[in-house]
Amino acid sequence: MRVMISRFAPAPTGYLHLGHVLNAVYVWRTCPRVLLRIEDHDRQRSRAEYDAAILADLAWLGFRWDGPVVRQSERGDIYSQALERLRGSGLVYACDCARTVVYPGTCRDRGLVDGPGMTLRVRLEPTVERFVDLRLGPQEQRPLEQCGDLAIRDREGNWTYQFAATVDDFEQGITHVVRGEDLLDSTGRQIQLARLLGRAEPPIFLHHPLIMRRSAASAEGFGAPRKLSKSDRDTGVRDLRAQGWTPRQVLDAATSSIIAP
Ligand SMILES: [Zn+2]
Repeated sequence: MRVMISRFAPAPTGYLHLGHVLNAVYVWRTCPRVLLRIEDHDRQRSRAEYDAAILADLAWLGFRWDGPVVRQSERGDIYSQALERLRGSGLVYACDCARTVVYPGTCRDRGLVDGPGMTLRVRLEPTVERFVDLRLGPQEQRPLEQCGDLAIRDREGNWTYQFAATVDDFEQGITHVVRGEDLLDSTGRQIQLARLLGRAEPPIFLHHPLIMRRSAASAEGFGAPRKLSKSDRDTGVRDLRAQGWTPRQVLDAATSSIIAP
């Protein structure tokens, strides 16, 4: 029987909030083994202070992870090796275009030389990626149409989230990726990228509901529900702890679906 391994992978760009807590509940509920990965690939926005607070708050909530904490900022060699594998397959090219939602492939055949200020991209295939989400059922996505050739290293020299997370999931033997349904659209491209990297079988995905909260009341009444974000300071685990909440209360608040305005 295959061992089921998932990961909890927060970015240290803010404190844990209830959205993270809900994700942690789903991750630990799905898999008996969970690795903790700090996704600090964005060196300009990541802070050691948040990293330490995330570990402390997770432990306070009672989550226990397997093995040492892994940090993306310490895994440059692993990403470089993965990049070289893709390069060896002739799939990588340099690009000097401004960021776009759907990259049209302008630099595919320009033969630009990699260097400072250059984005590195991987050629995607015009395939349909099919997978079965554990909660949402069968899915079909066309990554090349959705986003164009994926950036794997940006012009500031940071590995991108898509690339680092896909390499890590492969290299760490993650069998189950459990995350919020706002990331559903990026699943096909991660499955394809994993295959291009040589992964025989992609991880299984489960996309869970997000905590929504009502936008501020206006003349027209309450606004539409919107995703919780770290700008919602009153839902930060740090702040709730300081107000005397217990771990149980925080977990309950996270797993009840909508927070009042
Ligand atoms: Zn370009």
